[in-house]
Formats: sequence, structure tokens, C-alpha cells
Amino acid sequence: MRVRFAPSPTGFLHIGGLRTALYNYLLARKHGGVFILRIEDTDRSRFVPEAEQDILDCLAWAGLEFDQGPEKEGDCGPYHQSKRSTLYEAAADTLVESGNAYIAFDTAEEIEVMRERHRTQDNPSPRYDLITRSEMSNSLTLSAQEVERRVGSGEPHVVRLLVQPGKSVQFDDFVRGTVTFESDTVDDQILVKSDGLPTYHLANIVDDHEMGITHVIRGEEWLPSTPKHILLYEALGWTAPRMAHLPLILSPTGGKLSKRNAEKQGIPVTVRQYRDAGYEPQAVVNFLAMLGWNPGDERELFSLEELVEAFSLERVGQAGVQFDLQKLSWYNQNYLRGRSSADIAGQMHPRITEQFGECSLESVVAAIDLMKERMVYAHDILEAAFLFERPLAYDEKSVKKKWKEDSGDLLKSFTRVLESTQHWTSDGLESALQSAIAELDIGVGQLMFPVRLALSGQPSGPGLYDMMVYFGRAETLFRLNDAAQRLP
Ligand code: GLU
Repeated sequence: MRVRFAPSPTGFLHIGGLRTALYNYLLARKHGGVFILRIEDTDRSRFVPEAEQDILDCLAWAGLEFDQGPEKEGDCGPYHQSKRSTLYEAAADTLVESGNAYIAFDTAEEIEVMRERHRTQDNPSPRYDLITRSEMSNSLTLSAQEVERRVGSGEPHVVRLLVQPGKSVQFDDFVRGTVTFESDTVDDQILVKSDGLPTYHLANIVDDHEMGITHVIRGEEWLPSTPKHILLYEALGWTAPRMAHLPLILSPTGGKLSKRNAEKQGIPVTVRQYRDAGYEPQAVVNFLAMLGWNPGDERELFSLEELVEAFSLERVGQAGVQFDLQKLSWYNQNYLRGRSSADIAGQMHPRITEQFGECSLESVVAAIDLMKERMVYAHDILEAAFLFERPLAYDEKSVKKKWKEDSGDLLKSFTRVLESTQHWTSDGLESALQSAIAELDIGVGQLMFPVRLALSGQPSGPGLYDMMVYFGRAETLFRLNDAAQRLP
């Protein structure tokens, strides 16, 4: 099995592109195959210089290592289409010589005039095909000398595929089963553009053939191109790879998850946005794996290795799949919990010191221990400012509602109990609080609430006793006294 991920460097890697790369990767690993990264950079008008680095960074971030590709030479390089022109030229020449393609000189205006002439209600966008090609300037209608003269004088021209009418084009798709297209619905596709560069269709099939690709796995949006590819393979006398077209990714409100409607709903579209927003790569990978594939049972959490084991094209569905950002958060929370506090602390320590000033790595580990169950993203810890600095203010609504006239005095009485508490542990502190409320003859909430507010400034948060252990005796006493003084 040899598979490839073949992105065009026209922008930052799309989240759907990462899913395509993932499915290719999983199959290659599962079957001990080869996973190739090929950069399809023949469309110079849409070329974005930073895009290739972004593709490499995002694949590395997701942990999808390719076997061959840019800077990883293998048996079928180079891996940029821009460096493979001679192969495309040779294929185009073969196609013209064998009568499967022809040279056409028509300008864009001439093609538009032809379309105008043939346009009817039933045929709003006439093709360049059997019917129309006989009216145009091409090597089928012009004499050989005339064609030679025009080419020789540098007249712009393209190479088109000669599509024979009345043919049924068939291929088996792993996801869709047998797919049939009538050749009458396929136009004489341009294979080489007037700038001499191949179009996607020609370059794609030449490379898939030359690179020995056995399985083409790509998004459903490429399905309409496949009949052209099949015709090209036939014309060149090559065997087509097997095909799998992955289901469309749909927006939560229906319709394709286009850049525009994703942005409207606050759904990031590029992989780097997910990375920069602090998503765990394993969460994104696991989430994308389930976006079109299912394991056939109830399992939802899979490491990359487990995915390799479980994945198969047979379980990829045909129906479009809805993108659910909440599900991704759920995955993120799961993977975050799976990381050690020390690991998360190591990641967040620089940002914490930047935001709140110097603090030890150990204290950040302890803070993460305290907060982990409540965190969805690693950076959620930055929102728990009270762990790293004293509360600047106390939540106004809670003060209004629950801070009573005697709250300050109760806090002060509690500090006296705490001064002599022997075991500064969660259990020890719980008994200290219990004995204080018994002594003061008050309800639990009357003391617990002001303590929480004094420590964190917030009405809710981590366990109260764990929080006191985290702060230690001196800081706890300071915050309780401080609140008693500052609040009315
Ligand atoms: N270059 C195409 C893309 O940008 C590749 C499609 C294919 O896999 O054939 O997605």
C-alpha cells in the first residue's frame, strides 16, 4: 500500500485537509505501507509561499509523520510538482501522439462566444466537447501545417483531453461502491495550460502513477474529477489506483463547512488556529478520526496507535458529517486530564510568570493539580488568577447576596482556629472548620462562603480545603484577614 497526501500550497492547512492526511496515514501504518507527502504547486496564481511550511508544521504537530516528501527523499522524488515538469510534458506528448489529446488555440473570448451560441435553458454552461470542439481552433480542425506554424510562432495554446462520447466510465470507490459517469458529461479537460504548466488533473494522475500510489484517499469534492482521471489512466494505458472519497464535513447548521459559514459560527477552519487556540493535538486527531469513520462499537477515545489498529476504509460512511465543536472540547478535556500536572505546568509556567510574575514550577504543578478537573484547555489555568495573585476585587454579585454583616467577624474567629490547627491538610482543615462552626453555633454556609470569597474572590472554584492547603497557612490567614478588613 502506497498512499499520499497531496495538498496544494494555496493557504494554511484546512482542518478537513488534516483529516484526509490522517486517514491516509492510518492506512499506511496499519498495512505497513508508505505515506507520501506531495506538494501540488502547479497553480502559480494561487501559490502562497508560507503554506508549505504550515503544512509541514501542522502534520508534525498532529504527529503524522510521512515517509517520503519534502526534505525526506525517497524512491520517487522530487515531491514538489513544480520540479517534475518533464514527466508531465512527456505524458502530454504521449497523449497528443496517440490521439487522446489535442492542441487548442482558442482565447477565453472565443470560448465565451461559443458558450453564448450554444447556451440554452437545458444547457446553461456549454462544454468544450464533441459538439463544440469542431467549431473551434484546435488541432482537430486545423491542418497540421497550420498547427505547427501557430505553435512555432508562439501563439498561446493549451492541451485538451479528447473525451470520446457515449462511454460509461466506471470505478469502484471504497466509500461509495461502484460509481458510474457518462463520458458525455465530461468536457475536454485542459491538461496543459497556456503557461506550459500542467493542470491538477494531469499532474495528479502522472504523479500517482509514477509514485506507485495504490490507494487515492481524498475528500468528496474531488469525486467529479475522478472520471477525468480514469479516462486519463485509460488513455495512457496505466492502471488507476483504487479510490476512496471521504464524506463532506458539514457545518452544524447544515451545508458544507465553508470558510465563510464556519467563521460565522466561530469555528476555526485552519489547523494552526486550533494549535494556537491551545487544543491538544491528540484531541484534534481523535476528533477528526471520528469525523467520517466509526469503530463499529461505542468506543470514542483512541490514541493514534489505537486508531492505526482500529481504522478501516470499510467503516468510513458516505453521508456528510457535522462538525461539532463541543465534541472537540470534550475530547480536549479528556486528553488534558490524561496529561500529568507536571507536564501541563511545564508548558504553562512561562506564560504564568509572564502574566503574574515569578513563581516556582512546583507551585504551578500544585495549581494544576487543584484545577485540572475543571479545565478544558491548558490555558484555562491563566483564568484562575487568584492562585497566583491575591484577589484584586471580590465578585460583586456574591458580596451583595451572601456577604453578611457578621461575615468579617466570623472570618476573624476562624483565623484564630486556623492559627492553632495542627494538621494543615485537607482533612485537618475540614475538622478545623467543623469545630469552628460548632463553637460559633452557625450554619456551614455562613462560614464556608466568606472563606471561599476571601481566598479566591469568586463564588465557586476548587475544593475549599484543597485550596487552603495550596495557599498554606500564612497566605490563607492573610487573605481571610484582608477580606475581613476590605469588605463591609
Ligand atoms: N491538490 C489537491 C488538493 O489540494 C489534491 C487532491 C487529490 O488528493 O487528488 O486537495
